[in-house]
Amino acid sequence: MPLNLPSQPGTYCLVFHCSTSSPVTIGKLGTYQIKPGYYCYIGSAFGQGGLKSRITRHLKINKRHHWHLDYLRASLTPLELLYSTDTMKREHQWAELLLKDEHSNIPIKKFGSSDCDCPAHLFYYEVKPRLEFFIAKSLIITDD
Ligand SMILES: [Zn+2]
Repeated sequence: MPLNLPSQPGTYCLVFHCSTSSPVTIGKLGTYQIKPGYYCYIGSAFGQGGLKSRITRHLKINKRHHWHLDYLRASLTPLELLYSTDTMKREHQWAELLLKDEHSNIPIKKFGSSDCDCPAHLFYYEVKPRLEFFIAKSLIITDD
């Protein structure tokens, strides 16, 4: 079933599940042992095609690694998309909210945050998180 992704610009949080432990090399960030659990990746898409084209790319497993997520993508199953079509870029704000969450951990320092001061835009949860930190719409990608 095709997802009804919005083509407006906006901010997003993709929730993934990982079922196995495996070493993954994330470009210049190095090699990390990825643990089973849940991963939340935060970004924004204010370029052409908006959220639709960015999320479509993130949902595919790309052989060409452009984003940090491309390196990790094959180890993850996408579960849910949370997004906002607010014209304000909220990725750093959302990352800060997840950073402050007592249940989150940073699995890979500076993942997805090369261009900003955030410690990371990727957060790890042992238990599936209830993401009620930010105002967002939700699309279920896969039933976990
Ligand atoms: Zn940031």
